[in-house]
Amino acid sequence: MSDCLFCRIVDGEIPATVVRESPTTLAFRDIAPQAPTHVLVVPKTHHQDVASLLAADPELAIDVLREAHAVASDEGVAEGGYRVLFNTGDDAGQTVHHVHAHVLGGRVLGHLG
Ligand code: 5GP
Ligand code: ZN
Repeated sequence: MSDCLFCRIVDGEIPATVVRESPTTLAFRDIAPQAPTHVLVVPKTHHQDVASLLAADPELAIDVLREAHAVASDEGVAEGGYRVLFNTGDDAGQTVHHVHAHVLGGRVLGHLG
């Protein structure tokens, strides 16, 4: 999908600060970080949100989760605590419709809601 921002990052057409890559996933820093660690983990194939991803390819959803934890370990926030979240749909404010896990850490994050 050439009109998808994150497909274009996966394809190298748009630059990003990549922190991890696996055969099926890419992890790169969010352009507008909300915490000292703010990394996005995406599957290399296009799925619009986590529900679509789970329905189409549950193993790939596991790959994304595994990489999210690996990012937290790499960033040194796994022990202190971190947050993995998938904004899904309009009410959650999903703005990029290529599923992505936000990995947030490096400060006290507070409660959601
Ligand atoms: P959403 O709101 O869809 O859950 O999250 C989209 C995220 O993508 C936002 O946190 C936003 O800052 C990030 N983002 C938007 N455009 C770019 C970009 O061009 N590069 C990178 N690295 N992140 C982006
Ligand atoms: Zn895409």
